Amino acid sequence: MQPLKQYWIAEALEKDLGDPTNPDSVMSFKQVIDLDEKEEFPHEIINWLYNWKLQHYYIPAECGGEFTSFDEFIAFVRVLSRRDQTSAIAFTTMFWSYLTWMAGTDEQKRTLASFMKDANGAMCLAYSEKAHGSDLLASDVRAKKVPGGYILNGEKWPINRATISGVTFVLAKTDEAGGARSLSLFMVEKSKIDPANYTHLPKIYTHGIRGSDMSGIRFENCFIPESMRLGAEGVGLELALKGFQITRALCAAFSQGAADTALRTTLKFALGRQLYGKTVFDMPQPKRTLTDAFLDILICDCATIGVARGFNTMPEQISVWSAVVKYFVTTTLETVVQNVSVVLGSRFYMREEHDWGIFQKVLRDNAIISMFDGSTVVNLHALLLQLRQLTKSRVKNAGRNQDTLQARLQATFDLTQPLPAFDGKKLELVNRGGDDVLQGLELALTSLSDLQTDSHLNSEVLQQIIQLLQMVQEELKTLDHQITESTFQFGHEQAPEVFDIAKQYCVLHAASSCVYMWLYNRHHLGDFFASGEWLALSLRKLLLTFRPAKALPTRLSDEAVSQELVRLYNHNRMFSIVPFQLAQPQQEEITTDATQRLQLQA
Ligand SMILES: Cc1cc2nc3c(=O)[nH]c(=O)nc-3n(C[C@H](O)[C@H](O)[C@H](O)COP(=O)(O)OP(=O)(O)OC[C@H]3O[C@@H](n4cnc5c(N)ncnc54)[C@H](O)[C@@H]3O)c2cc1C
Repeated sequence: MQPLKQYWIAEALEKDLGDPTNPDSVMSFKQVIDLDEKEEFPHEIINWLYNWKLQHYYIPAECGGEFTSFDEFIAFVRVLSRRDQTSAIAFTTMFWSYLTWMAGTDEQKRTLASFMKDANGAMCLAYSEKAHGSDLLASDVRAKKVPGGYILNGEKWPINRATISGVTFVLAKTDEAGGARSLSLFMVEKSKIDPANYTHLPKIYTHGIRGSDMSGIRFENCFIPESMRLGAEGVGLELALKGFQITRALCAAFSQGAADTALRTTLKFALGRQLYGKTVFDMPQPKRTLTDAFLDILICDCATIGVARGFNTMPEQISVWSAVVKYFVTTTLETVVQNVSVVLGSRFYMREEHDWGIFQKVLRDNAIISMFDGSTVVNLHALLLQLRQLTKSRVKNAGRNQDTLQARLQATFDLTQPLPAFDGKKLELVNRGGDDVLQGLELALTSLSDLQTDSHLNSEVLQQIIQLLQMVQEELKTLDHQITESTFQFGHEQAPEVFDIAKQYCVLHAASSCVYMWLYNRHHLGDFFASGEWLALSLRKLLLTFRPAKALPTRLSDEAVSQELVRLYNHNRMFSIVPFQLAQPQQEEITTDATQRLQLQA
């Protein structure tokens, strides 16, 4: 079993779901493709997950559930998502419950936990309106105060699981003149409102996640008791934005599951298909594409896991970190899927022929991840509004409190470190204290320099890592200078150049995350991870955002990375810095059992 406890649930779920290429397993590629073709909601799969009690892992321990940490959560969502993003997203709308775990009364928490555990209940998030898209404050849905509660009027659309869910989190206007405090949030339990006062809107036919319950909900003079309001009147927008900090970061897990299947399916093809007397994988160009895709997955893994753990260690900084991950990981992995499609050749465009056509489904389904829960531009906008403050903090904090910074970075990135409990009250709408990940570059460079006496490390690899991290630091200085010199004003009408700065900030954040991940886990994530070639290659890849290849150190051989990719594929392990065990094909399970029987007989 995987020594890191946070991966046990993912491994157990994998084992019980079985090999997705076996048509008879739950969530097999065949089954999910069949459902997709029929555009049918995956009821059977969702019921299986409830029976497995996966919903308990969406409820914090203090509310009677089994959820402990976000890094455990992202690992098992990857397991779902590598098989089927439609079911993964449908089941994971349950994570909107975090709004209640953060802001609900004890009674609201008890009600919701029991609804999820005892009634297999699910929820949806009803923020969007047809006329207003990302402009949440423009909401036309009204909640008018009346004795004992509110009268709800208006329509929310498009909403995932609006129809097939028992609880709807509704953002509605309670004060016409309240500005940022004009919205309130309600946990509307459908079983407790009059069915004559609300209707579900028809299914929306989508490009991907076709089996989803994409619809909407309309309220007409619908009475909801005051007990359904979450938090105080007027704090709806604040709660919504804090809730997004959580869910946006976790969206990365959907993309990572999809990227795993896209790469695995393509690698299977490349290792098996013969052309010109060799396999496709033996040709340098396809091999490089697949190896680069693997590197991207590892980079995204470092960024996501760092942020997932950051919820527990540095919740005050999550307003920045979650925007970074929602932008960087989802768009990078979308590109990975596109890139590897070239190697799959014409089959990427076919709806059968290859693993029941799972690749084309991944391609379509995955395209929504960077868009929903706050689109790419919305996330970059949330980040760029904080850049000036981040630059100021970086200058102010330079060289100060190095020991505590080091301790915080270690708690965040060392996967063996126990995490403090997550306290949602510590989330901040905007970051005031700075970004540890980029603040710690100087410390990371010192740690790397100290490693020069380590005889186990290849000195060429280490020198490259040091040189490339110095370049990351130089690029950060340039960025800080640009931000300080800019005539930046707050608001929605930001220049495209400021969006570019925000994108570059994300790349630097990801590069630094990779370095900390390596520094703090070199001794317990295996030989491939420890040797560091993947890190040097990843840093170089990221720096191509800023500099031409000829301005960077020569690319190291990526043979070790290609070999590791094939090794993980052959052993059915997740493409990850923590390559946990995936379900074994039926054939191998029989072999293992037989071997065990023989051992027992002997
Ligand atoms: C499959 C799917 C599932 C969904 N699920 C849900 C759900 O469960 N609950 C829910 O509430 N909503 C859901 N949505 C709605 C989704 O969140 C909205 O589509 C989203 O808010 C964007 O709104 P819009 O598409 O109307 O675009 P708009 O917000 O109208 O944007 C139009 C254009 O303006 C740009 N723009 C917007 N803001 C900025 C900015 N600050 N700076 C620069 N450019 C900007 C956009 O990039 C875009 O180009 C879902 C949508 C889909 C497709």
